[in-house]
Amino acid sequence: MTPISPSKILCVGRNYGAHAKELGNEVPAEPLFFFKPASALIFGGAPIRIPSGVGRVDYEGEIAFVVGRRGHRIPEEDAWDYLSHIVALNDVTARELQKTDGQWTRAKGFDTFCPLGTPVSLEDARRVGVDPVGDPTSVRIETRVNGELRQTGSLSDLIFPVPALVAWISSVMTLEPGDLLATGTPAGVGPLCDGDVVQVLIPGVGAVESPVVSG
Ligand code: ZN
Repeated sequence: MTPISPSKILCVGRNYGAHAKELGNEVPAEPLFFFKPASALIFGGAPIRIPSGVGRVDYEGEIAFVVGRRGHRIPEEDAWDYLSHIVALNDVTARELQKTDGQWTRAKGFDTFCPLGTPVSLEDARRVGVDPVGDPTSVRIETRVNGELRQTGSLSDLIFPVPALVAWISSVMTLEPGDLLATGTPAGVGPLCDGDVVQVLIPGVGAVESPVVSG
């Protein structure tokens, strides 16, 4: 699959209980979703660029899905029919701007702040034992910085599971083919610095690895 150009990148905040707590936040009563702009996407080992003066910039390793079919007001029980691929995504975040701005567009939206792996079809993933539909525990996420393991999680840890997210978001806006849905990040977020290499891996599916540079 060649680099995709989604009409929107949909992300979910605080969808793992331990991560909400580590940043001092309550677990939300309803899914808390936001956008990243498509202009933030990078592919194939391109660097994350940290602009000067933005303060701390964190990695957030996430399990993401590609929308395969147009849909709106999708019932939970039909949600998987609308998702075609699974992919590793890094929701890079300027943590201090996220707090000071109040809304997250700037903090989440810098160019290069959305490294994306190579999407793998749900059928191909199932063939290697990664089955988000039938067994969410089989879908793992790991984030490493300079080879050191910083985050681990599983799709089964989500507060709002994927079908609930699809139903919730599509009750607001139409999902278009190629749109990305990132499902949130587990505990263990931390800062990136010039010279680091950050890898987000879904074992069996693939990774996205990004060097980090300033400027
Ligand atoms: Zn995130």
